[in-house]
Amino acid sequence: MRRRDFIKVGGAGLAGAAALGGATGNWYGLYGSPIPDPATDGTVVPSFCELCFWKCGIRAHVKDGRVTKIQGNPADPLSGGMLCPRGAGGTGLLYDPDRLKRPLLRKGARGAQTFEEVSWDTALDAVASNFRRIIDQHGPHALGLFSHGFGASWFTHLFRALGSPNLAAPSYAQCRGPRDVGFQLTFGSPVGSPEATDVANTRCLVLIGSHLGENMHNTQVQDFAAAIRNDADIIVVDPRFSVAASKARHWLPIRPGSDLALLLAWMNVLIAAEKYDRAYIEQYAYGFEQLKAHVAPYTPEWAFPRTGIEPQVIRATAELMAGARPAALVHPGRHVTWYGNDTQRTRAIAILNALLGSWGRRGGFFMPAQAEVPGYTCSLPHVAEPVTADRPDPSVYPLADEVLAQGLCQATIPGGLGTPRVRGWMVYGSNLLSTLPNQKETQAAIQALDFLVSVDVLPMEIVGWSDVVLPEATYLERWDDLNHPAWRTPFVSVRQPVVPALYDSKPGWWIAKELGNRLGVGDHFPWADGEAYVKVRAESAGVDFERLKREGSVALAGGPRYFEDGAVPEFGTDSGKIELYSQTLAQHGFEPLPTWHDDDVEDPPAGYYRLLTGRAPSHTFGRTTNNRLLSQVHAENEVWVNAQVAQQWGLAHGERVYLQNQDGVRSSFSAPVKVTSRIRPDAVFLVHGYGHRARELRFAHGRGIDDTELITRYRTDPIMGGTGMNVNFVTFLRAADVDGAGATPGAHAALAVTAEVRA
Ligand code: SF4
Repeated sequence: MRRRDFIKVGGAGLAGAAALGGATGNWYGLYGSPIPDPATDGTVVPSFCELCFWKCGIRAHVKDGRVTKIQGNPADPLSGGMLCPRGAGGTGLLYDPDRLKRPLLRKGARGAQTFEEVSWDTALDAVASNFRRIIDQHGPHALGLFSHGFGASWFTHLFRALGSPNLAAPSYAQCRGPRDVGFQLTFGSPVGSPEATDVANTRCLVLIGSHLGENMHNTQVQDFAAAIRNDADIIVVDPRFSVAASKARHWLPIRPGSDLALLLAWMNVLIAAEKYDRAYIEQYAYGFEQLKAHVAPYTPEWAFPRTGIEPQVIRATAELMAGARPAALVHPGRHVTWYGNDTQRTRAIAILNALLGSWGRRGGFFMPAQAEVPGYTCSLPHVAEPVTADRPDPSVYPLADEVLAQGLCQATIPGGLGTPRVRGWMVYGSNLLSTLPNQKETQAAIQALDFLVSVDVLPMEIVGWSDVVLPEATYLERWDDLNHPAWRTPFVSVRQPVVPALYDSKPGWWIAKELGNRLGVGDHFPWADGEAYVKVRAESAGVDFERLKREGSVALAGGPRYFEDGAVPEFGTDSGKIELYSQTLAQHGFEPLPTWHDDDVEDPPAGYYRLLTGRAPSHTFGRTTNNRLLSQVHAENEVWVNAQVAQQWGLAHGERVYLQNQDGVRSSFSAPVKVTSRIRPDAVFLVHGYGHRARELRFAHGRGIDDTELITRYRTDPIMGGTGMNVNFVTFLRAADVDGAGATPGAHAALAVTAEVRA
């Protein structure tokens, strides 16, 4: 497909607008709260970042109507005046020449990526008429929203107003969901986002497959640096020698998939040697005797053949944790959908923290506090919805507490989950083709849809499959809801436009309100505009709005953060205690204590390697890989291959390979090999978010390998429906052979596997 197929410029009026380029006025009112910036003779406008979910406070420097620099806002508790590389590189998104510029209407077959530019009225009318037809014929349950990002709140509000409960965020079932359910079951509270981990004050930090330093969650990375400065002991469990591992006292290169065995062995050591926090457990925990009996067989010697970690190392690391407790933190991680037993594994992490007495304690988990913001919630009063389309039988994945994106996808395919099925999607800021496992299933669902509308900033793959495309203004050009997360101290921060919206993009609040008006639910959007909405919200929290606009973040008074300082221990479990033994799991027929099963882990077939994925500090997956500024640091991913394996295959450092998985699916593009001793021989590693096939992403297109293409298998967590995706294996195809042979998918034999590799 060539570019001219994608955008066919519409009428003369639009062509005229196009000629204006970025000079269109900000029709929706005043923007931002500029403060004179004597250093540059410009202004500074505070807001908060959207390059990842952490939402750090920023100060954008503006001169002659252009953002020249983005820095951290010292008044903001999350950034503390410092940003990660992505946050500082936000102008690369704002001025990305590939941005969606005007509304688009599909012409031709779905997925053919042929569109024409239309006016906003035409685009919004098309969305409204299609949604109205679906609601009239099938009811509001036939609509589903997939979303990612803070701006989604306007659209979740719209869907609730329309009566659809099908609000799915892939960040749940494809990322953090098992962790939140595991901690909820144990402590009666999820970990939160941002996580209430007291990394800065810990004396012993355990990271299990969690790549702080590559995962640039700003405050945590700053805290991690503080822990290193404070000489805290760091233990990293990872098949790969990550950046975090390079700072660790112990790197445990574990056999992939066996983390639960290690966690059980650590519990065994703490209890057998009576090194756990006995007073804490006696006061706060339920089910200790059952746990003690349960973990008795899980000795370090039992764990060794399963994990590859020697018994003396398991004992030594358990001793380190015990010596530091309660300032010992076994980090819960964030992207935890690995093997399908993920809720039980994260339950084991929670139980280990309980044995160390770290929940609610300095150097463990602090008790977060949140600002009360009662005015205008951007969500209607929540009505319990017993049945959502993703789970027509609520006894399946009974502890899922959010809608499962994969389930919503299946509920769209005729015969997938029964009736009624979902027929209309809105996709907000979520590139589903790179987010959900099994792209064939996602494509089958899309092809079965009556209607698909995307709201996005960039022409991601999902945009190419849409019937209508609505170009949203970037986070630097719009108002969004007030940010007031639970954190060390309660605070509120504001997102306000820093510069006028470029092109003919519009803010999400306006798009949702216009759709609400057209769909007969306009009375649910009583605010005049985004600013008026945020003003009411801020003032309801007792915050002066003018001050908030000027300062960006305003801290409020908060209570003690630790039990030892007077924070009241409250556990929202059935027993009112920390549930080592989970009554809820037992009631639902699941194992009430995490249990190891040898068949939980499958080793790679001969000549194949487990596909592991992660992040790079300068990118947030596919959301940033078209950012030309950030890509100066990291322009494509590499295939990490163990040096011995590379030698066996005769692969040279930098040589390009395609990957092909166990089901014969080959990556669309190739990537260079990184020959390294920093990874186990049975695994390869890729940074997620590369290998874009959307040609309108003119910078990112074809750079590197898209791991999601290769994730054709997933194992579903029976407790909450998370999709474990580290269950795929890949082999190598030399790019020189593939490209020379004409690059027909599936037509290329894998490199000859040597006898040595098979052995
Ligand atoms: S961690 Fe980085 S990308 Fe994420 S919000 Fe903060 S500055 Fe932005």
